[in-house]
This record gives sequence, structure tokens and C-alpha cells, in this order.
Amino acid sequence: METVRPRHTGFCFGVRDALELTSRAIEGGLPTLALGQVVHNDKALEELEARGLGRAQELPPAGGPQVVVTAHGAPPELLEEARRRGLTVVDTTCPLVSRVQLHARRLAAQGLPVTVVGHAQHAEVRGVVGWAAEEGSPEVSVVASPEEAERLPWRARRGVVSQSTFPQDRFQEIVGRLRGRGEELEVRDTTCPVVNQRHREAVGSLLDEADVVVVVGGRGSANTQALAETCARRLPTFQIETAAEIEPGWFRPGQRVGITSGTSTPAWVVDEVEAVCRDL
Ligand code: SF4
Repeated sequence: METVRPRHTGFCFGVRDALELTSRAIEGGLPTLALGQVVHNDKALEELEARGLGRAQELPPAGGPQVVVTAHGAPPELLEEARRRGLTVVDTTCPLVSRVQLHARRLAAQGLPVTVVGHAQHAEVRGVVGWAAEEGSPEVSVVASPEEAERLPWRARRGVVSQSTFPQDRFQEIVGRLRGRGEELEVRDTTCPVVNQRHREAVGSLLDEADVVVVVGGRGSANTQALAETCARRLPTFQIETAAEIEPGWFRPGQRVGITSGTSTPAWVVDEVEAVCRDL
């Protein structure tokens, strides 16, 4: 099959740097534990775990291993508790996630209710909510759709930020819905430019040139899922984690296969997918 691949696939700088910091922490020889998934890719995770990285959802007790905060960041109370227990923290929070936290804090410091547009259960959103609350926001809410935004209680003024990986067009749609209720909004578009660029590349060229799309990335990766949803609105789209999941029955002879990836997918996994598609 002929394949089409946009310029940007593979890791974003945030995930790449987080993995490098984690790798260095492991090499330091101390027991190391990641709080959650440092990367939404099983193969990359297996490699780190084979080198000694542990994984947990909660902080270890005092005297336990050093803990890696992932690129998604963490709420302030977790960092405070780690300090209280005397744990060493390796903070790999992406600077663009720190930017979301900073804007949420600044809006909260103005005394505004803060609305985070994103998925309430996502680690990044839980962290941002924590920072806004700590800064004294009178009310912190999370919405992921215009319908949820409609259900928020009316406020004369409101601060709004976005989860970094939330699709920018949907963020703007939700902001529009809140504006339509006559609220005065302080909006900080904190969507990630790297993710936005991948969406633009998908919509701007990939979907025009391809007949079918394969999106490579972890099923737990918010930006991979959003990218797959964008592609699926126009073309048959399959989301996979590895080349082994490709089924020849997805394609018809002569079709062009568009291949793109989430930001936590290693480039070599995308290369493998492309090679398998070409050989079909
Ligand atoms: S997707 Fe964007 S915000 Fe998330 S880690 Fe990558 S660069 Fe940072």
C-alpha cells in the first residue's frame, strides 16, 4: 500500500524530555517509582521497567524510593506530602502543563471561579484543579462538552483554561457556549501547540491525501484519542498501539494509508507501522 505521513509524528518534546529525566534518575542507581504512566506506550514502558522503574498510583511511605512525577504534573498537595515524607521527587512536568497550572493559579488569585476544560479523571486536570483550589479560587469546575458547560451555575465572571491536550476547536466551542450565557470570561487558551499542529496537519493535508487513516498511540493517551476522533469524522480510521494490530482487511487495493501518531508514541513504532502498511 502507498502511505502518507505528515511531517510531525513520534514523541513531542515534553514526553521526550520526561523520558530522558526518568532515564537519568534510574541510572543514578536509586530505587525509582513513577506515579502513573510516564509514557502511554507499553513497549517504551516495558523498557523502562526492565531497567528498574517501578509504578504506583500513590506515594510510597517515608524512606521509600524516589518518585517520578510524570509530564502530566501533579497537584500541590501531593508534592507537599512527598516533601513531608522526605521523598526525593523527580519532577518531569512538561513546561506547557506548568503553563496551564500557572494560568489557573493566576486566575484563582484574582478571586475568579476557574473552569478547566478537559477530562476530570485525567492526571493533568486533577493537578490543575488542585493548583487553582490551593490559590484560593472560590469554585473550580471541569467540563468536557458544551452541554456540561451549560449546566454550570451562572457566574458574572469566570476564568477558563484548557487541559493541554484538549482539541482546540472543541475548547473554543465550549468557551463560546459560556460567553453566550452573558458571563464575562477571562480565557487562557492553554491548548498545546504541538498537539494543535498535529490536528492541523491531519485536517490540512493528511485527510485530503489519504483514503484510510491509521493513528498510532496508546489507548490511554488523550491526545491520540482526540486525533483519531478528528480523523474519523472524515475517513475510516483505526487506532492502534503497535504494528502487530494491523489487519489487512481494513484496506482495499490501491488505497493510500495516512499514518499519524499521538505525542507519546515513539517514532520507531510509527516507522514499524508504516513498514507493515507498505508491505501489504
Ligand atoms: S503533548 Fe504538549 S503538553 Fe503534553 S507533554 Fe507533549 S508538549 Fe507537553
